[in-house]
Amino acid sequence: MKNSLQLSVVIPLLNEEQSLNELYSRINVVCTENNITYEIWFVDDGSTDDSWNIIEMLKTQNPNIHAIKFSKNYGKSQALHAAFERTNGEVVITMDADLQDFPEEIPELYNMITKEGYDLVSGWKKKRFDNVMTKNLPSKLFNSAARKLSGVQLNDFNCGLKAYRKQVVKSVDIYGDLHRWIPVLAANAGFKKITEKPVQHQARPYGSSKFGAERFIRGFLDLITLWFVSKFGGRPMHFFGAAGTIMFVIGFLSSLWLGISKLIDVYVNKIYGNLIAENPWFFIALTMMILGTLLFVAGFLGELVIRTHRNHKNYHIEEMI
Ligand code: UDP
Ligand code: MG
Repeated sequence: MKNSLQLSVVIPLLNEEQSLNELYSRINVVCTENNITYEIWFVDDGSTDDSWNIIEMLKTQNPNIHAIKFSKNYGKSQALHAAFERTNGEVVITMDADLQDFPEEIPELYNMITKEGYDLVSGWKKKRFDNVMTKNLPSKLFNSAARKLSGVQLNDFNCGLKAYRKQVVKSVDIYGDLHRWIPVLAANAGFKKITEKPVQHQARPYGSSKFGAERFIRGFLDLITLWFVSKFGGRPMHFFGAAGTIMFVIGFLSSLWLGISKLIDVYVNKIYGNLIAENPWFFIALTMMILGTLLFVAGFLGELVIRTHRNHKNYHIEEMI
């Protein structure tokens, strides 16, 4: 690892002009003092303030600064994705631009990946300086639901400060709002050495938070999607096909029974006038057959989509000889 670049610091930002200078100089100091060779990837996610000018100015001071400017606000996930595709360091550390995370944590995070052999180390804002009602409390519930559904044992999934082995960021495919769930994506991709490290956290010195309470609803929906995708994403027929077949069979047998008993009524018992449609089972059976067929078709379409559009990042090879 001697000759290759040791660290890439990835910083997504939206209107953080007041923090950037201090953020850069603290990263520079801590990496230089610890002899870590580094590059920085700033991703300007559609800022309307002076952020981009400041980054351009910083770039003139240090050629190891790289930056991407989005044409509009695409969101933190897209910002991370764009940087992850381009990083060159053996270790990648993501960090928010608002100075809530401490650049001074870098060396220890870096060592946990290189020396202790972790694939991913997630920051844990053990002592948190955000609003109790809008952030801290809901976030506790949210994290405990996440642990149960994902099986990944972290106290703080959404901390912006995280360190990754290079292969992890090149394997996970983040889109939408999935930046909250990178540890889950990494675990699903087969990276098992995931841990957390308590990190320092401070109240936002400048600007305001870019995420409101809607984050919890969105985050939860994403978590359900991830859970479902990891369970059945590779084999949709096993869920939809099975559910569809069971429903269809129940519906079909019920309608068969209705039909036969009607025939017996008419030809054996000579009872006329009772309409099949007067029996509530008729509607239940009908609905079940229709829903069952639809579910089956959904599963079949899912399989076709996978066949034609297979995601080659679904597996991660640990070794090859
Ligand atoms: N951010 C971004 N794009 C967005 C929203 C946020 O790049 O659409 C950046 C933001 O500038 C900051 C980081 O993501 O560097 C975390 O955002 P924020 O501090 O608002 O989140 P919080 O700390 O309140 O969870
Ligand atoms: Mg913040």
